[in-house]
Amino acid sequence: MPLAEWSNVALLAGDALIYFTVLAVLFRARARLGIGAFFCALGVMHFLETYLASTFYVALPAGIVASPGSTILFTGKLMLLLLVYIREDARMVRQPIYGLLIGNLLLFALAFVMRQHLPTALTPDRFADLGFLDEMGALMVWGTLILFADCILIILLYERLRGAFGNALLPRIALTAAAVMTFDQFMFYAGLRFLTGADLTVLFGGWAAKMGAVALYSGLVTAYLTVFEKAAFGQTGAPRIADVFDLLTYRERYEDLLARSGRDALTGALDRGRLETQGRDVIARAATAGVSVSLLLIDIDHFKTFNDRFGHARGDAVLRQIASEIMTTVRAADLTFRFGGEEFVVLAEGLNAEQAVVLGERLRAAIAASGAGTSRVTVSMGVSTCASDAADYDSLFEIADRRLYRAKAAGRNCVVGERAVNVSQPVRLVHQAS
Ligand code: GH3
Ligand code: MG
Ligand code: MG
Repeated sequence: MPLAEWSNVALLAGDALIYFTVLAVLFRARARLGIGAFFCALGVMHFLETYLASTFYVALPAGIVASPGSTILFTGKLMLLLLVYIREDARMVRQPIYGLLIGNLLLFALAFVMRQHLPTALTPDRFADLGFLDEMGALMVWGTLILFADCILIILLYERLRGAFGNALLPRIALTAAAVMTFDQFMFYAGLRFLTGADLTVLFGGWAAKMGAVALYSGLVTAYLTVFEKAAFGQTGAPRIADVFDLLTYRERYEDLLARSGRDALTGALDRGRLETQGRDVIARAATAGVSVSLLLIDIDHFKTFNDRFGHARGDAVLRQIASEIMTTVRAADLTFRFGGEEFVVLAEGLNAEQAVVLGERLRAAIAASGAGTSRVTVSMGVSTCASDAADYDSLFEIADRRLYRAKAAGRNCVVGERAVNVSQPVRLVHQAS
């Protein structure tokens, strides 16, 4: 009867709403209660879910037969674990998955041992169906193994779709969950068929019902994130509408932070601190491995005069332009640091003294040719190489510094290296002191 079928749909939606609301409230209260409360409640639902999935099915429209256990509880659990990942991290998601898997194996083991008891009946008509517990245990272990794969998949896919959807959360969550639940349905059905002989209508009916649940839960998760957890994203001042969608997972933000930390804010080059740590390491490693590495110390010519004439804002723009010129001219593996105000250091692994002067000359020429009109500036460079000059950072730096001084004395806009003193024709610049 169609009415009964539609009322089953309404009841399932009601189940989902109650399930999601209570667990979302527990999740939201994690700062106060600890996340354990949420995970315990999720664990209790896990037992109910498996019981229902192996015994309780309802008829839905279009001949679909589905279990609230898979449709509401399993799908809901996976969506909640995705929510945990988005707001916390993969480490946190790992906890319930390991807990559920080990708990299920324990259930399986205990059911096995208990079957060895000789039980005494409480009353003649009350007896424990331990065989059923066995069957459920097997289904739970299978279900949790799939959940394990599901969780890895859902996180990977969610990350992957970042490029396509960016901060458009709803399609990103819905597509991720739909793909993973499709995979899940096929896997779970295989186990169910093996244990209970369930026929193919369960496979397709269950899939259709899960897709419906995915649609509903995606809306709920997005709404939850948008309404309740946007404030936690470190906004200051009044939130803008656009910020609502500017949701980043902790890991994304952590990676973002990592990418930006150790970089100079003005030019985007690696900062002085990184030169002291990473730079020293590169040279120490190369010295031990017997690989050559060259250090290019670059200083802008007459930059003080430039600032005095055109102001510091124009000076800053020139610094950015030169840094970008350096970073796009060097090879991808070379490291560019902003050493001081208008001094840069390039570390080029694998370049010997002559090759380093060639790179320096290429950089010098590129910088002299870039910029237009008054923005045109030149640089001077001192180059030293490990191990032909020295084998440690401090000595290499000192030698490059001395050569830079010679380059300045030789008329600027030139490169001085170990053997080659590559004096170029000084470019007459508008701002150059006369
Ligand atoms: P030289 O050719 O001998 O190198 O002359 P110079 O004027 O460039 O001398 P020096 O290298 O000592 O000059 C450093 C100048 O760089 C001083 C300051 O005006 C400028 N400077 C340093 N840091 C910054 C910065 O972050 N922004 C701007 N706009 N200017 C800076
Ligand atoms: Mg300087
Ligand atoms: Mg200078």
